[in-house]
Amino acid sequence: NKENVKGFLRHNLFVLLTIAAVALGVLLGFALRPHNLTIREIRYFAFPGELLMRMLQMLVLPLIVSSLVTGISSLDNKASGKMGMRAVVYYMVTTLIAVFIGIVIVMVLKPGKGHRDSPVASSGTIEPVQAADAFLDLIRNMFPPNLVEACFKQYKTVYKKTIHTKNVTFALNLTDSFNLIPVSGSSNGVNALGLVVFSMCFGLVIGSMKQQGQALRDFFDCLNEAIMRLVAIIIWYAPVGILFLIAGKIVEMKNLAEVGGQLGMYTVSVIVGLLIHGLFVLPLLYFLVTRKNPYTFIAGLLQALITALGTSSSSATLPITFRCLEENNRVDKRVTRFVLPVGATINMDGTALYEAVAAIFIAQVNDMELNFGQILTISITATAASIGAAGIPQAGLVTMVIVLTSVGLPTEDITLIIAVDWFLDRLRTTTNVLGDSVGAGIVEHLSRQELQSQDVEVGNSVIEE
Ligand code: ASP
Repeated sequence: NKENVKGFLRHNLFVLLTIAAVALGVLLGFALRPHNLTIREIRYFAFPGELLMRMLQMLVLPLIVSSLVTGISSLDNKASGKMGMRAVVYYMVTTLIAVFIGIVIVMVLKPGKGHRDSPVASSGTIEPVQAADAFLDLIRNMFPPNLVEACFKQYKTVYKKTIHTKNVTFALNLTDSFNLIPVSGSSNGVNALGLVVFSMCFGLVIGSMKQQGQALRDFFDCLNEAIMRLVAIIIWYAPVGILFLIAGKIVEMKNLAEVGGQLGMYTVSVIVGLLIHGLFVLPLLYFLVTRKNPYTFIAGLLQALITALGTSSSSATLPITFRCLEENNRVDKRVTRFVLPVGATINMDGTALYEAVAAIFIAQVNDMELNFGQILTISITATAASIGAAGIPQAGLVTMVIVLTSVGLPTEDITLIIAVDWFLDRLRTTTNVLGDSVGAGIVEHLSRQELQSQDVEVGNSVIEE
C-alpha cells in the first residue's frame, strides 16, 4: 500500500544519501590533503561533523533511560527475564567467538614477528591497575551512588603514564572508572552501565506495579516516543554530518605510507578478523536461529553501520540503530527498547576481537611466548575489557591496559598501535553495532511466544513478524 511504498522510498533515499555522503567525504578529504591545512582549519572544516556527533550524543541519555524503562515495564517479569537471559547468552557467546577468531588470526598471521619498529620511553606515576581492581570497578559502576552524578560523572585519574615515541607523546589516563576513559575524541561523560542497570530495575518494578505504575509507564513511553521523533529529524542531517566527519578525518590523518611492516600486518589481522565475524559468523548465527536471510537484515542496518563508521561511537549511533531496526527491519519495539541500550553498553564483539589481537601482537613484538594459561587470561580480560569499554571513540585502546597488565606485557607498547587505532576503531565500532542489531533480531525470534502471549493478554493485534 501507499504507506509502505513511501516508507520504502524514504528508506532507500536515506541509504543512497548516506552512501553518497561517505563517497563524497572520502573524495573531499583526499582532495584537501595536499593543501596541508592547519589544525585550526581542519577543526573548522570538520565542524558540521562535530555537530552531528553532539546531536546524537545529546539523545543518548534520555533514550537509554526511557527505552529501557518502557521496554521492560511493558513486559511481564517472566518474559523480560527470559528475554534478558537470551540476550546475555547471545552477548557472551558472540563475544567469545570474536575473541577466538582474533586469537586464531593473530597466531596464524604473526604480525608482530621480527624486531620492533620503534623504541619507546615512558614516565609513569602510579602503579598500574590490576585486572581484579578493574573487574571490581566494573561491578562497582553498575551501582552509581548518585544518579544525577552518573549522568555527568567526572572521573578521577588513578593511573597516569606519559609515553614518548619518535613521533608522538601519548598520555595514558586510566580513571577510577574502568568504564569511561577516552584517549581522544569527546566523551559524553555518562556512566552508561550504571544508568542501564538502574533503568532496568526501575522498569521491572514499574512493570510489577500494575495500575499504580501506569502514570510512570505513560511518562517514559511518551518520553521515548518524543526522543525517537527527534531522531527522525536529526536523521535528515546525518548524511551532511557523516560527510564532514569522514572528510575531516582523512584530511587530518598521518601519512599512510608510514603504516608499513608490522603495523600494516597488524591492521590486516584486525580487519580480517572483523570481516570474518561480521560477514560470516554473525549472519550464519542469525540464519541458523531465524531461518531468514541475514543479508537482507544487514541491508536494513546500512545507515546505522555507516554512522558507526563515521562517528566511532556505538552509543552515539544508538538512536540510528533504533530507527533502522524498528523502521526498516520491523523488529518489535519491546525487544529493541530492552536489548539495544544494554547491547550498546556491554556487547562489543569488535572491541573484544581487537583487544585480543592487539595484546598478542604486542607479545609477539616483545618476543614473548604465551602459554595456554596466558592466552586464556587474554581471552577473559579482553572480554571484560570490551564489556567495560564505553561506547565512545577509542575507549577500547585504553581498556587495553587491563589486558596487557594481566599477562605482564608493557603498557607503553600501546603506542605501537596508536597510529592506526582511529581507523580500526571505526571498523570495530561498526562490528559492535552489527552485533547488537543481530542480537535484537535473534532475541526477537526466540521470544516470539512470550511476545505473542503478551499481545493476547493486552488485547493487541498479533505482532508483525
Ligand atoms: N569505539 C568503540 C565503540 O564505541 C569502543 C572501542 O573503542 O572499541 O563501540
